[in-house]
Amino acid sequence: MSAGGPSPSATAMSDKKTATVACPFCGTLNRVDLTRLEQHPKCGNCGKPILLDRPIAISDATFDKVTTGTAVPVVVDFYADWCGPCKIMAPLLDDVAHRRAGELLVVKLDTDRNPLTGQRFGIRGIPTLIAFRNGQEVGRRVGAVPPSELEAFLRSI
Ligand SMILES: [Zn+2]
Repeated sequence: MSAGGPSPSATAMSDKKTATVACPFCGTLNRVDLTRLEQHPKCGNCGKPILLDRPIAISDATFDKVTTGTAVPVVVDFYADWCGPCKIMAPLLDDVAHRRAGELLVVKLDTDRNPLTGQRFGIRGIPTLIAFRNGQEVGRRVGAVPPSELEAFLRSI
């Protein structure tokens, strides 16, 4: 370690709370400043709003960029359209995304359309929630859980 680390201003820049998400309309990856959500971030490509107060779709192609490029915990909902318990969890996760926007990033992965990521994380049943920090798994819940257990899970990550 030599002298001359980052200047205070450079440190502040790198500490910036950003999330990396794919635009729901055009799929372009965008970096969103989580401290300025009230300014209604827009996609740099198509200009449509990027709304983080609901779960955003993630895919095999964008999974790594989103989970490693986001400064807050990323909660991934592994689900499928035909899965009844997933439909029970969906409004709970909508609510978490809304209440915790800027503190947590809630995303959803359709395991039918994105089998590679499901295999990679050994998903055997859905819904499965996995929480990531800096791309590393820090928690997992399998199956539909009541709101109190969901809150406990979110506090544990
Ligand atoms: Zn777009």
